[in-house]
Amino acid sequence: MGILTLIFAAILLFIVLLNNAAAAPIRTMAMLPTVMPAQSPSNSSTLDHEQLMRHAIREARLSRNYPMGAVIVDSLTGKILTGAANDAHLDPTLHAEIVAIQKVARKQNVYWKDLVLYSTVEPCPMCLSAIIWAGIPRVYFGSSMLFLQQQGFSQIDIRAADIAARATFSTIEIHGGLLQKECNALLIGYK
Ligand SMILES: [Zn+2]
Repeated sequence: MGILTLIFAAILLFIVLLNNAAAAPIRTMAMLPTVMPAQSPSNSSTLDHEQLMRHAIREARLSRNYPMGAVIVDSLTGKILTGAANDAHLDPTLHAEIVAIQKVARKQNVYWKDLVLYSTVEPCPMCLSAIIWAGIPRVYFGSSMLFLQQQGFSQIDIRAADIAARATFSTIEIHGGLLQKECNALLIGYK
């Protein structure tokens, strides 16, 4: 009888140990933070958004391809670091936002988290992804993707906000409709 009790106790102990071993990884996972710490956005209250978008519109007018432009601004100083237009006639990936990012990337001591990108059009999935990978936390655009489609421009139909929502490692503010009328006017009748 005593031996049977001992064997029973040993089996019980074995089962308890086994359960603990199986449960251990779950407990470890539960201790991991489930929410990424929010990045504190830089202060851009002093930026003149309309004036900066007008620079992007100027870039769009200078374009030798589609009338789409972008500028990248340092939110701490308000200084325009670069402006660019669509150069997709040279390379199909050279949308204005990509050209602007590439120009900034060639500079020294770039603090991407302090930058703001202005684009005359809603960034496409390629451009918004590039903006996220660059670590630029704020975007302003004029014309919506829907308007581009209505004007006959082919678009991969995923909105900038939808791309941003899926990049869970990053937080990015996206503001649409800045000087929308002026940005739309660049596109009307182009195609
Ligand atoms: Zn694009």
